[in-house]
Amino acid sequence: MKSSFDLIVLGAGSGGLAAAKKAASYGASVAIVEGDLVGGTCVIRGCVPKKLLVCGSSLSESFLSAPSYGFDFDNLKIKSEFLLANVRREVQRLNELHENFLNKARVKLFKGWGEFKNSNCVVIKNRKNGETINELYGEKILIAVGGRPKRPNIEGAFLGWTSDDMFLLKSFPKKITIVGAGYIACEFACILQGLGVEVTQLVRGDRILKGFDFELASSLTEAMKNKAINLNFGENVSSIKGTPGSLIISTNKDREFHSNGLLFATGREPFLEGLKLEKSGVEIFKNKIKVDSESKTNISNIFAIGDVTNRINLTPVAIDEGRKFADRNYGESDHNVNYDLVPYAVFSQPEIASVGITEDKAIQSIGGDNIKVYRSIFRPLSKSLPKTGSKCILKLIVDKNNNKVLGCHMIGDNASEIIQMASISLMLGAKKSDFDNTMALHPTIAEEFVTMI
Ligand SMILES: Cc1cc2nc3c(=O)[nH]c(=O)nc-3n(C[C@H](O)[C@H](O)[C@H](O)COP(=O)(O)OP(=O)(O)OC[C@H]3O[C@@H](n4cnc5c(N)ncnc54)[C@H](O)[C@@H]3O)c2cc1C
Repeated sequence: MKSSFDLIVLGAGSGGLAAAKKAASYGASVAIVEGDLVGGTCVIRGCVPKKLLVCGSSLSESFLSAPSYGFDFDNLKIKSEFLLANVRREVQRLNELHENFLNKARVKLFKGWGEFKNSNCVVIKNRKNGETINELYGEKILIAVGGRPKRPNIEGAFLGWTSDDMFLLKSFPKKITIVGAGYIACEFACILQGLGVEVTQLVRGDRILKGFDFELASSLTEAMKNKAINLNFGENVSSIKGTPGSLIISTNKDREFHSNGLLFATGREPFLEGLKLEKSGVEIFKNKIKVDSESKTNISNIFAIGDVTNRINLTPVAIDEGRKFADRNYGESDHNVNYDLVPYAVFSQPEIASVGITEDKAIQSIGGDNIKVYRSIFRPLSKSLPKTGSKCILKLIVDKNNNKVLGCHMIGDNASEIIQMASISLMLGAKKSDFDNTMALHPTIAEEFVTMI
């Protein structure tokens, strides 16, 4: 079957879905091609199932605190097979919901893997048998194929899991080794520890969460150690031996770890395999698709958004890039994405969240003499009866020259929810005096942001 469309979108993930629906809302005829489940990384194997696991895992801390509030639990147990099956059911429901949304938006969904035949034509293939299912012609083509996890090139790497595999497990192992220092590694370390798994984390460098505020990262390091996560720095895997379920992990420090599973959280890369980009003429630069500020590639009718362009790899950014692409090409608005104040979080336990510039970056860019750092470090009320758990840290980075708040950072309960709201004030250019003039809401954690002296 051959068909022609105003727009073909490759990949029904966060960015592709947003772009396709918005373009169709302006009256464009739109096809979307998806080789896996509709929803992409975020819905199927990223943000959403991860957050559901975080919700489950973080209950363990509440249960630990509960006796100080008078609760008495006997024989408390977690069945990870039940949790994982329940999460998968929810993911399946969301997948169907997104297919319905496409239908309602009059976007035509083609299931199968897309590859370029030329700069206006995409062939859809069944990758299992190589059979061509469809051939589509598009006036414009949007590449929104996302990224996928990287596996290191070491002996026995095939025995390890990636984050994709974690959501497909029947149950979690008794003991796991996690390799990596980024947000996905730290989130999984906390999730699994909370669900009763013995966690060892191997970090190649000397800190976790490079690029995040150093004080928050070191506070999380302490909190993770206090939870009995075995965090090791300057240590990397050199080989994995054994059989699935019983692994012997050797490191550069000539140590061996015995685990029932290993998770490689060692970074992600654009998912370019199988696209046959060379037939479209689109250039790849440093393993990603290079685009201009309007998400246009070097070929005038081909665009790319989301993780495949490796700009800021977060769902809201991919969605905004998709919507702005549709507005510019099929609607009337020509606004570009604003990458300046993108809030971000680590759904560790405790949570970290930030918006704006970190203290390190502020010192690098305008100099330490030009900034003032306000901080508040305290034990939240919710931890005062149990007398356990880490302290909250709230930080404001202020430009001394104009009193403007450049960065707002936090570790503690509900950090992501609080920072989402704080990001509105930074967008509006709030000054420290605006924070000071805001009435506190007591007793809360967030009130510390408006009472710092
Ligand atoms: C474990 C994990 C946790 C995360 N947590 C968060 C979080 O808390 N918050 C946040 O903002 N972000 C988070 N992210 C990042 C977020 O998921 C991504 O930034 C986002 O999904 C990128 O959207 P995208 O549209 O670029 O690509 P994707 O959502 O990855 O979608 C790309 C789609 O294209 C399909 N595809 C690929 N090649 C082809 C082809 N040739 N033909 C047809 N289809 C194809 C894929 O199957 C996929 O469905 C997380 C990621 C991971 C892995």
